Amino acid sequence: MRLVLLGPPGAGKGTQASALAARFGVPHVSTGDILRENVSGGTELGREAQAFMDRGDLVPDDLVNRMVADRLAHADAAAGFLLDGYPRTVPQALVLEELLAGREEPLDGVLRFVVDLSELLQRLSARREIEGRADDSEEAVRRRFEEYRAKTRPLEDFYAERGLVREVDAVGAVEEVTERAIAAVDGHHGADLQGRATGRGRSDVT
Ligand code: ADP
Repeated sequence: MRLVLLGPPGAGKGTQASALAARFGVPHVSTGDILRENVSGGTELGREAQAFMDRGDLVPDDLVNRMVADRLAHADAAAGFLLDGYPRTVPQALVLEELLAGREEPLDGVLRFVVDLSELLQRLSARREIEGRADDSEEAVRRRFEEYRAKTRPLEDFYAERGLVREVDAVGAVEEVTERAIAAVDGHHGADLQGRATGRGRSDVT
């Protein structure tokens, strides 16, 4: 199973990704987590990435692309993977497409988590209290949404054109959302959802 999770900050991708990865028996590859590990470990990569992350800006594509290529080369990703937070730009999506074409392993689907903006903002301010992530400050959250709108949102069309998008209503109990995501993958595995999947009339982050 090779899946990409797509959705704005606060959509719950990370939480759902862990549950789905366990269910499908594939590794959960979160670029945000890998970057944060590098920052806390004080690696060269972490030093390069930290300022971008703290501001809520995207880290440069080539850095993230190299990081993901390395991660997907590990043996545990041979049977599949769940990508959380990557790709986040069209150039990243093109690099991933080429990488997977080289392995003759196209994506099975892209799960798009749909949550409206007021719910997202509430979740992020609640998380700020609990986790104290540097990029959950008001200013950084604003930047992360700007980055999402400008650079990540175009991926919805990029993947819809390829017939890969399955929408998941991501409001509700965590387990409920997980079940919806599984149903979206199972129910439509291999089916062409083009009509429903283009996501016209989106309600989130417009
Ligand atoms: P969220 O989805 O909550 O905004 P993530 O944990 O996925 O947060 O990512 C945190 C930060 O890590 C991003 O704001 C960005 O700076 C960096 N990052 C993660 N993935 C990517 C990526 N694919 N491309 C560029 N930057 C990334």
